[in-house]
Formats: sequence, C-alpha cells, structure tokens
Amino acid sequence: MKSQQVRQQFLDFFASKKHTIVPSSPMVLKNDPTLMFTNAGMVPFKEFFLGQKTVKDKRVADSQKCLRVSGKHNDLEEVGKDTYHHTMFEMLGNWSFGDYFKKDAIDWAWELLVDVLKIDKDCLYVTVFEGEKEEGLAYDQEAYNYWKKHISEDRIINGNKKDNFWEMGAQGPCGPCSEIHVDIRSDEEKTKISGKSLVNMDHPQVVEIWNLVFMEFNRKADGSLEKLPAKHVDTGMGFERLCMVLQHKQSNYDTDVFTPLIREVEAITNTNYGKNEEIDIAIRVIADHVRAVAFAIADGQLPSNTGAGYVIRRILRRAIRYGFTFLNKKEPFIYKLVSTLSKQMGDYFPEIKAQNQLITNVIKEEEHSFLRTLEQGLILLDGIIKSTNGTKVSGKKAFELYDTYGFPIDLTSLILSEKGMTLNEDEFTDELEKQKNRSRAAAIVETDDWILLIDDNEEEFVGYDILETNVKITRYRKISSKKYGDLYQLVFNLTPFYPEGGGQVGDKGYLEASNGNVIYIVDTKKENNLIIHFAKSLPKDPTQTFKAVVDKKQRYRTACNHSATHLLHQALREVLGTHVEQKGSAVHSKNLRFDFSHFSKLSSDEIQAVEDFVNARIESKIPLKEFRNIPMEVAQKKGAMALFGEKYGDTVRAIQFGNSVELCGGTHVQNTGDIWHFKIISESAIAAGIRRIEAITNDAVKEYYSENNKIYNNLKVLLKNPQNPQKAITDLQEENTSLKKQLEILLKDKAKNLKGELIQKVENINGVNYLAKKLDLDQNSIKDLAFDLGNKIENLFLLVGTEREGKAFLTCFISKNLVEDKKLNAGQVVRELGKLIQGGGGGQPFFATAGGKNPEGIEKALEESKRYIL
Ligand code: ATP
Ligand code: MG
Repeated sequence: MKSQQVRQQFLDFFASKKHTIVPSSPMVLKNDPTLMFTNAGMVPFKEFFLGQKTVKDKRVADSQKCLRVSGKHNDLEEVGKDTYHHTMFEMLGNWSFGDYFKKDAIDWAWELLVDVLKIDKDCLYVTVFEGEKEEGLAYDQEAYNYWKKHISEDRIINGNKKDNFWEMGAQGPCGPCSEIHVDIRSDEEKTKISGKSLVNMDHPQVVEIWNLVFMEFNRKADGSLEKLPAKHVDTGMGFERLCMVLQHKQSNYDTDVFTPLIREVEAITNTNYGKNEEIDIAIRVIADHVRAVAFAIADGQLPSNTGAGYVIRRILRRAIRYGFTFLNKKEPFIYKLVSTLSKQMGDYFPEIKAQNQLITNVIKEEEHSFLRTLEQGLILLDGIIKSTNGTKVSGKKAFELYDTYGFPIDLTSLILSEKGMTLNEDEFTDELEKQKNRSRAAAIVETDDWILLIDDNEEEFVGYDILETNVKITRYRKISSKKYGDLYQLVFNLTPFYPEGGGQVGDKGYLEASNGNVIYIVDTKKENNLIIHFAKSLPKDPTQTFKAVVDKKQRYRTACNHSATHLLHQALREVLGTHVEQKGSAVHSKNLRFDFSHFSKLSSDEIQAVEDFVNARIESKIPLKEFRNIPMEVAQKKGAMALFGEKYGDTVRAIQFGNSVELCGGTHVQNTGDIWHFKIISESAIAAGIRRIEAITNDAVKEYYSENNKIYNNLKVLLKNPQNPQKAITDLQEENTSLKKQLEILLKDKAKNLKGELIQKVENINGVNYLAKKLDLDQNSIKDLAFDLGNKIENLFLLVGTEREGKAFLTCFISKNLVEDKKLNAGQVVRELGKLIQGGGGGQPFFATAGGKNPEGIEKALEESKRYIL
C-alpha cells in the first residue's frame, strides 16, 4: 500500500466513526512561550484539553506535522543512526474532547490495525500503565480489561511512568497511556527471542507505532497534578512507522516516504545506499533533515541565529556536515532534493509545493555559507594543529572554533584522529558548560501557577471598538525573569488591549483602581488563547473593578503602520509581480517592517513606484471596511489570501481598503487618509530570495524629513553655502582624487631617492645586511621599497617603522635564504614587535606588516629588531 493511501485509510476510518477530519496545524508555533515546535499531534488542541477553549467538534482526526528536536522530546541525535526516529514526522491522531474514552479508543485502534489494515495480531503487543505510588496514580485496570477482549493476556505488558504516562512537557495536560508495539522480525528471529522481552527495549524491529493517551490531568508549574475538567482521548501513531509495517519493510527509510529522496541523494553524490553503514547514516540524515528544514521554511520559519530559526539552521548544518564528511560533498546539493520532496508530499501538504522555489533558494544559500565556514574552519584548525606541541589539542581552542565559527566539534575530533591526535575533551566540556551556564542565567524565567479569581475562560477582546472599559481580573500569576525582574501576568474578563500577534506589537496602557491608583501595563501578549497583560505591580485588591485604558497615541501610530503594511503588500504585488508573498512583518508604533519573497534587489525606481502607489491610496482617503467572523470562503472570494504557517479559525476577520483585502486580526485606521504619508527607509536582503522593507508613516515621516533637512542645512554651511551643493560635493571629491594621485607620485619619487640613501645605511652584522629605520611614507610605497631593496641587497633584514594619522606601522622584509638558513620569520617579528606599538599583525615569513595605536613605540621596536640577528 502506497504511503498516500495509508494516510487516507486512517482518515477515512475515523471519518466513518464520526470524526471531523482537519488539516495539519503549522509545525512552527507562534503563540506559545513553552514550546517552539509542534512535537505531538495534541499540541494544536492543548487549549481544548485545558478547558481554555470551547470545543466545536468533539471528535477530530488528522495527520499532524511534528518536529522533535528540542525540549522534552528531542530525537535529533538518534536520527539517521536508527531506522525509525525522525526529526520531522507525521503523527496520525484521533481525538475525543470530553466525548468517548478508553473503550472506544482501544476498540477502534484494534479494528483499524487488525481488521482494516490486516496487521497480523500475532505481531502486536500492548502496554498499560502500572500506576505509581508516589503520585497516587492507580494501575490502569480499565484499559487492561478492554485490551484483553482483543488480544491474549500474555501480550499485554505493564509499563512504568516513563513509558506509560504521557506528558507534553514540564507543564500541561497529561495522563496514562497504552501503547501498541509491532514485532516485524522474521519468524526465525522470533523463535530465538520473544518479542515481548524486546518491547520498549529500543529494538529497531520491535517498535511502538501507536500511543493512546487518556488525558485526565494537568501538570502544574509546582509539579503537582490536578484533574482536568473533562476526560479526553489523544492518540498518536507514527505515519512512517505504520508505512514500514504495511509495506513489509524493516526500516522507515525503505518505505516510499523516503526512497525517492534516498535515490536522489545516491544519484547526486554518486553513492549507494545499503553498502556501508557510515554512508547509510549520512544518507538517512540528509533525507530526514531536508524534510524538517523544508517544512519549517514553508511554515515561515527561516534559518537564523536565534530561537526556532537557530534550531532549523542547526538541523540543516547537521545534514551538510554529514554530506561533507561522509559523502565528500563540498558543494551545495541538499537544495536539489526539495523538488523531489515537493512532488511527493505536495498533494497532502500544498505549502511545500507552493513554496518549492523559495525553500530551494534558502537552503542553497545556507549550504553555501556553511560550507564556507567549514572551509575556513579547516584552515583555522590546521593552524591550531601546527601550533600544538604533542598530540593533545587544547579544548579551549577547539571550543573557540566551535563557538565563534560554528565549526562542528565532531568534525574537529575526526580530523584530529586522522592525524593521530586527540582533543582535550574535558577542557572542551568545561568551556561548553561555562557557556551554557551563562546563557541559562540570562534566560531564566520562573512562572508561578495561576491564581484563579473568577472561573471564566472566555476572555473577550473589545479593543477593535473601544480603548477604555471596566474590567475584572479573572486570574493572575507572578513571573520573574533576569531581564525584566518581577512582573505580574493578568487576565481579564474582557479587554481593550490588543495582544501581540499578526506581527503587530501588544498594547501598553494602565489599569485604574477606584481610589485612583494606577497599575501600568507594559505589554500584552497572547498565550494560546488567553490574552495576558504584563503589569509592573499587583493591585492591593485584585478582585475589584478597574478601568482599563489603552495608550491611545501608541495604538494610533501602530494602526497607521499596520494599514500601511497592507497597502505596501498590495503595492509590491502590483509593482514587482504576484510572486511576492508576505514572509513576515513587524508593526510597531515607530515603524513597520515587511519581509517578502522576491529574487532581486529593488531598484530605486521600483522603490519610488511602491512608495507612490501607497501614497496615492493614502491621498485617495479610502475608508476601512472590516468584516468580522466571516467564513474563510467568503473572505477568499473577496480576494484575501491565506498565509502559510498561520493557524486560522473557522471564521476569520478580513480588512479591506479598496482593492487591498487581507485576513488580519490587527488594528487599523478608519481611513487611509489617517496615515498621512508613507516613506520607505531601507530595502535589504535577509535571506536568499527574501527582501525586507522598513518604512515609516505619519508623525515619523515628519520627523524624518525635518531631521534630514537639518543635516542638509548643516552640510550647506560646511560647504560655505554654495549655489549647487551637489556640485560642490562632486567638485570636492574630484579634487580629492586628483590630490591623492599627485601625492602618490610624489611619494614614489621620494622613495626612489630614499633607496640610494638607505643602501648606504645598511650594516652588515653576522653576515646579515641589517637595516631598521623610521620613514615618512605610505604603506604602499614602503612595500614597493622593501621589495626593491630585497632585490638589490642579498641577505637583507629590513624593518621599517612609520607613523600615519596617529597610527603606527611596522613592515618587515627578510630575504628568503635567511628565512630558511637562520629560521627567521617576518610574521613572528612583527607579531612580537607589534606589541610595542600596541597592535598586532602578521603575514608571511619573508614579508609581514603590523599596525598599532602607539607611534611612541616605533623607535623601541626598531631598536629591538637587532636582537633577531645577533
Ligand atoms: P519512541 O519511544 O519510539 O521514541 P515515543 O514514546 O517518543 O516513541 P510518542 O510520544 O508516544 O512516542 O508518540 C506517538 C507515536 O509517534 C509513536 O508511537 C511513534 O509511532 C511516533 N513517533 C514518536 N517519535 C517519533 C519520531 N522521532 N519519528 C517518527 N515517529 C515517531
Ligand atoms: Mg520518543
């Protein structure tokens, strides 16, 4: 059965059991401070389990893109080495939100696997939770009883908390679980060792395929468990593992989910899969990682230096490194796999197909730059090796290479071992630990549990219509972070504060108590579906009614920038073409930033055209048309485009200014005329095929022009008020160039004259022709002079000091035969003497230069140079 059909059969089966089939949520998370990526099928439904959101469909089934590369579920280091863990994989799941529980979950799982998909029941084992005393958790007798109706009791295995109590992370919904394992070994193998003894023993052919979780508890921040308001079912089946079983393969990588990618890697790298373990691992790593990276980029997460972007960059770099080391690929090639991937997955996941080109470009560029890093790292490592006495290489230096240059440590170890050397690993681990402690200390955030004042989870947002209203605090908690110190997070029954989202910053403002006391709200953010207000302090009596007031000025400026962002988007598609797609935006009160896909730098004409387009719409004073809670289809008919990587509800909000229609939850001006004016401040590249525009509107434009005008006036004064300032500057530039040329000629002449003088001054000491002198020449002339003298005079040791614009320079020339016979080294000379001019430098053994900030030291350096030849 082809993998496409496997997925479809799963979904069809649960549709027949009255489940609503939903598409996968994004794999990259936006509004969750506790998690960067969806690491299990239940993540998009977390709020349902916690009772924070009202359930519409009580039964749901889907195939969810998951990524397990950080936090509690991190399989990264296993991937490639084994045959059944991936970074990115699909988790097939069926869900009951307060509807059916253990009986149906177990009966249906069995029916699907054994009756529909025809898996031999003699290959299956199931586990049930054995309970745990310390936490007061009981043996799951109920699950046991349901299982024994289907499977013989000697195939039911008790499991401990580690295997059979599922938790999403350090906090959140959890509960006992029952897993289904499959033994896919040959009959012969099975007679040797029973499958039962291999369950949960990390055996590659006795693997867990499905986990049925019975959600009953919530793990709180203090570590304790509380009962959830209702009982739920959350199941997760590894799609790739199920394909392995149904396609009678021994490895996920032998299924049609992976074989097209593997064939492509073989063809590009001229290797064969299945012949050599090291090469096989590399091929698996690459086939796996390209999926994770491609899907992350499709969800809008570009590789970067921080947060989720950094995790993605690291995954890609791991793949590049495996290709570099084991497949001998020194050129970018992983990007070539994207089209194969998109052909194969694009039907079910259209985001991959639609963004094929962009993903390809981004990966290619990343490969280029990391391969450059690797090359440079190899040179640096060579230097480290050469400067090492003995065979043990300093862990500190290796750490520097790893930390500052991103050079992978295992590559360092590998290269060292090839040269019969080793790394001082203790020293390396020490450095790594020190660094981790530094970043941990910077990031620590402690969060207390919520204190509930009013049990109300429906927090209404009223901030589209009003900026001031009476509210009650329904819950609060304290958080402390190194950066901000102590803050309080408050949730209200209703709020006019816009929470950060859709690129727009969160509102600021204050709460006013009845006695006039004020509490400042410094930021507003969304956490899942709660709107959280960050307060500087907690009111004495948090149960009273407060007046909540949004900072109107900030909100207005932000709205101008947000509406302008929509017009900018429209302008870019109009001026550059419809290939332009939004890739990110940040709307602040001071400015706006818009990232979009486009292949080349914008010309100044294009920038002008974009600005003109937006300003024309501002001048036309187009009124806002806002559509709240309309069905997605209606919004799309109006011309709104859904963005990849965004999670939309059943109904959406659409914002229209004339022909610009966008799905948007942000706040906007009532009329484009309010924006007053739009000005692009910068245009740049942020990744391959992705450009960034920064722009300003309204008051900020006035400030910008008046600031620029000030600079212009100052310049005119400096230029002595010429008629035509632009011409005055070009004249100055021309004059400067011609003066420089003249100076160069003069200096060359001077050097020529000097040469004769200098030859007279050469001393012969111990067979070396020695000269050390301070000269008033530029560096280029000194270089010419040094080589000239070197040609004329044998056995020359020359050191020239010079002072230019308050800086000191040393130039050292040593004849080649002296370098060899006397082991003299100009690089070493300038490095050592460079200290005297408070600087440093280097070069080759026969010619080197140093620069420093202390001209006073030149004389001393010249004197000292004699010791090299004595
Ligand atoms: P394992 O012990 O094999 O790592 P798990 O206990 O971590 O599995 P769950 O968290 O229960 O797995 O996830 C549900 C299902 O998802 C598993 O039964 C398995 O089929 C699949 N799965 C889990 N992790 C991975 C992974 N890294 N790659 C592919 N499939 C996975
Ligand atoms: Mg696992």
